[in-house]
Amino acid sequence: MSFPPEVADMALFLSGRCCSICHKFCGNKMELHHISQRSKGGKDALENCIPLCLDCHTEVGSYNAEHPKGRKFSPAELRKHRDAWFAQVKSLNEETENSKGSIVQTVSGKGNMVAGRDLNVARKITRRNEVIPDAGGRHITGQEAFKIKAEIRKYTDLMKEAGLDPNPSGVWNRLYKHFQIASYREVPAGCVEEAIKIIQVEIAKSRPKVRKRNPDAWRKQFYTAIWAASKQLGMGKEDVYRFANEQLGPRKPINSLKDLTQKQLQGLDRKLKAKLKD
Ligand SMILES: [Zn+2]
Repeated sequence: MSFPPEVADMALFLSGRCCSICHKFCGNKMELHHISQRSKGGKDALENCIPLCLDCHTEVGSYNAEHPKGRKFSPAELRKHRDAWFAQVKSLNEETENSKGSIVQTVSGKGNMVAGRDLNVARKITRRNEVIPDAGGRHITGQEAFKIKAEIRKYTDLMKEAGLDPNPSGVWNRLYKHFQIASYREVPAGCVEEAIKIIQVEIAKSRPKVRKRNPDAWRKQFYTAIWAASKQLGMGKEDVYRFANEQLGPRKPINSLKDLTQKQLQGLDRKLKAKLKD
């Protein structure tokens, strides 16, 4: 008499619990109709199932062949309604998944789209942002986007290490405001360095707080920066210590970055970066 649970589940899922004819969102008030009646050999299979609202189900079932009025719903027509609606639900779900800037709203009350009799479409897509990222074209490539994300991670890692609360959305917002964009994927092509610089400025702004809260975390980021720069310059550890001794003239020659004062550490970082630019 009724569809097995797995068929019912699938039919309800594929319909988005909306009526296949009038497209109204039904929630619990939903019925599964046999397109070909069981008495006429119709099976309890998905292929023979159409989810309907109570009103449409009454319409479909109430036709009296003894006293024909109007036009009855034929099985072929019901299948067309069902297939078209399932396809629409599918594309709606895909569109929602693919466009992060969109949201699906369930619409209730007045002002819904009304078609024909009391039919309404209970879901609509609202686009927050019409820009579709064009990676490698108008916008930065995926790899460049990844670099930007990594820079933000540096910021959050630094803050966490210092025991401070990171505010990554504040940093993101700087970036969005600067380029007038809604997502970092929309940073214009060729502007990845500019974007990273903006993040670095934010990191620099938080450094005094880090130094105050956790001098070790503060020093550690200079160690990281210094070793990264020296690697790019092809300098080994001993080269870096010799360079520091020449450039900074510490009282005692250093054998470790830990021997440097905060000021010297900053100075060494600056001088290595200047050397990189030569
Ligand atoms: Zn309906």
